[in-house]
Amino acid sequence: MTSRRNFIKKGALATTAFALSSLEYKAHTNSSSDKKVNKPIVLSTWNFGIQANEAAWTVLKNNGRALDAVEAGVKVPEGDPTERSVGYGGRPDRDGRVTLDACIMDEFSNIGSVACLEHIKHPISVARAVMEKTPHVMLVGDGALQFALSQGFKKENLLVEASEKEWKEWLKKSEYKPVINIENHDTIGMIALDAQGNLSGACTTSGMAYKMHGRLGDSPIIGAGLYVDNEIGAATATGHGEEVIRIAGSHLVVELMRQGKSPQQACEEAVQRIIKLTKSRNKNLNDIQVGFIALNKKGECGAYCIHSGFNYAKYDSSGNSLINATYSVK
Ligand code: ASP
Repeated sequence: MTSRRNFIKKGALATTAFALSSLEYKAHTNSSSDKKVNKPIVLSTWNFGIQANEAAWTVLKNNGRALDAVEAGVKVPEGDPTERSVGYGGRPDRDGRVTLDACIMDEFSNIGSVACLEHIKHPISVARAVMEKTPHVMLVGDGALQFALSQGFKKENLLVEASEKEWKEWLKKSEYKPVINIENHDTIGMIALDAQGNLSGACTTSGMAYKMHGRLGDSPIIGAGLYVDNEIGAATATGHGEEVIRIAGSHLVVELMRQGKSPQQACEEAVQRIIKLTKSRNKNLNDIQVGFIALNKKGECGAYCIHSGFNYAKYDSSGNSLINATYSVK
């Protein structure tokens, strides 16, 4: 909670907008159909999205590729030891092991993913290496670590003292009960449209705190935690991964946009589907939070979640701001 509050404070400061000069903006929008496109633009989940967007924007404002922007962006919370739900400093599984999940997707539908990866601070960069340097799309566990080391990534201890202390406290009861909107989970999902009009996305997390060893959520799964279709749009998810996987959430959001829905309508429909399934399976909706963010080719965006409390950061020509997502359960 403390780190989240700090982020809110930092977020408010960072919200003081950086705006593209109109000259620069014209350079980005030089064809008449392009004029209607809001680009570049980057969206990312939760408070830490503000700082992550700053890093992504540095790439985007210099006409960089969306792929480079999302990788640079999500590396910010990945590398922050005070951030308890992503990368270095992330909460461990119930055995005290920090296991990380990440995936990345570009405008050509190239994909790369790692899951249950230990000891590597930046799983998103390993996911990108899987995408660019192997014939595969997903590596897990020891295999992912072995590959990372072969690529020159450094083996590190990711369990910071504060996390270890909390985990030891948790062990006393050993009760797995993720609390919604509290940082025993939270993922950074980031989607961006660059000045060339191309989309990419990245998603990275330490997953649910105190999960069973080997548990994967939606975040490393292309189609669940992240999906990009350069003709249509991009979407990413956060919250209870099991529920996102159940509906192939991010892919669903993109497909709904393909059918003509706005990013907002698409996020809402995907959330409603989770709610309906939760009820029909007689599960308690109060225990489940899921949030989606989405972006289409025009640079329009949307976000929606089950319960209040989910927010996301948006950076475009009008600046970087933190926005509370609308929600279903009133
Ligand atoms: N979706 C992540 C997972 O299930 C956690 C989160 O975003 O809160 O591992």
